[in-house]
Amino acid sequence: MIRGMDASLPLRVAFDHVCAPGGWLSPGVLEIDGTGMITDVRSLRTDSMDARVEVRPGFALPALPNVHSHAFQRAMAGHAEHRSPGHASDSFWTWREAMYDVAASMNPEALESLAALLFVEMLESGSTAVAEFHYLHHEPGGIAATPATAYSDAILRAATRVGIGVTLCPVLYLHGGFDKTLEPRQLRFGHRDVAAFVDLWHELDAKVEEVPHARLAIAFHSLRAVRPDEMHRCLDALGLARTGDTTPVHIHVAEQPLEVDDCLRATGKRPVELLLDENLVDARTCLVHATHLSDNEIIRAAATGAIAGLCPTTEANLGDGLFALSPWLDAGGAIGIGSDSQISVDPLEELRLLEYGQRLVHGQRCVAAQSDTLHVGDLLWTRAALGGARAIGQDVAELAPGQRADFIVLDGSHPRLHSHGVATIRDAAIFSRSRRSVVRETWRAGERLVANGRHRESDAVLTDWASIHT
Ligand SMILES: [Zn+2]
Repeated sequence: MIRGMDASLPLRVAFDHVCAPGGWLSPGVLEIDGTGMITDVRSLRTDSMDARVEVRPGFALPALPNVHSHAFQRAMAGHAEHRSPGHASDSFWTWREAMYDVAASMNPEALESLAALLFVEMLESGSTAVAEFHYLHHEPGGIAATPATAYSDAILRAATRVGIGVTLCPVLYLHGGFDKTLEPRQLRFGHRDVAAFVDLWHELDAKVEEVPHARLAIAFHSLRAVRPDEMHRCLDALGLARTGDTTPVHIHVAEQPLEVDDCLRATGKRPVELLLDENLVDARTCLVHATHLSDNEIIRAAATGAIAGLCPTTEANLGDGLFALSPWLDAGGAIGIGSDSQISVDPLEELRLLEYGQRLVHGQRCVAAQSDTLHVGDLLWTRAALGGARAIGQDVAELAPGQRADFIVLDGSHPRLHSHGVATIRDAAIFSRSRRSVVRETWRAGERLVANGRHRESDAVLTDWASIHT
């Protein structure tokens, strides 16, 4: 286990303000046991029990889980912002060509150093846990890696090194499109059949057991890459088909209009409609993007408890379109946020852009606000923490007994925050921004991994990355 900068477990730690499920505690105390789980959250008592507890400055809040990451794509951030030669316009599909080139260049060593750098960026920006949607399984051409789990091992080593709680989502990827075989460049993502993938999953299950704060989930790349009958067979074979199972199941859906049209042509149904009709959407499902949904799909999918995995900066970068946030929230839909292509690694920026996209299109302000939560920052933060924790299958939804002690501390002395109290602190953290981060500390399982905005491994990780990625 990674040791904290100053934490020795179990511990009692107090802050000027602690965001508890029932409201702010000012000052508040967190009791954390030897395994990093919260055993009590309460207002500071003036009796002997808390008399010697130092009250630290700042606002302690639940961290924001990152529900969708492709670590290797960190290597191409900023490298795909030019018009492709010979193309009159660019799109998701031309970007995908560049992504395939980057994927082709990856080896386990490069991936590990890149993932460590990326996970430090996540911890420093306010995420303590991430779902890694991992489809880089093999060497180029589909040749088996040595060992077969080499690329997943690289992700797990990077997560262990820097202390992020990783939910590894190995991806089943069987086809190159509706009724298409895998293209040569997709072979390193693919599997021969469901059985081969099931073997890999079982191997990973044993490995993840050994990694602190990690868990194994599953992902289907998309309906382009996996048919519903293959999803059912896979879940059956893994023993994950039973009602009540809570293993997260992630899938890219309806990111691009062309994908919806292709699905309609091939199956007669829209992607989410098809998944719903096949009983493949429930409360453990993370519908990544879910950008192009009909009104009926929104009502039906939201009612299942499925989480919409939203990645606003990537969706903007790729020209995907705009998620129907208000109808989804009005239908009781759950949300989580992700950094996806890693062009930005900052959950506060994802939340800001999520709201701003709506304002630009609808000509209104405070679009995400609901009648019971009028502050946009409060609503987005709370929903992204609750939905995000469920999407990644880790107990990090709120600062409450039985949850892991994962939280961030906002710097109350930051010029952007100093005039704010608990009523507007989340609004300010999201919507009042300057170059310097407002995230002063990040704690994972009761251990402080980030202090003064810097992860303790940040210099070493950067040096290692720079020595490999020249
Ligand atoms: Zn993705």
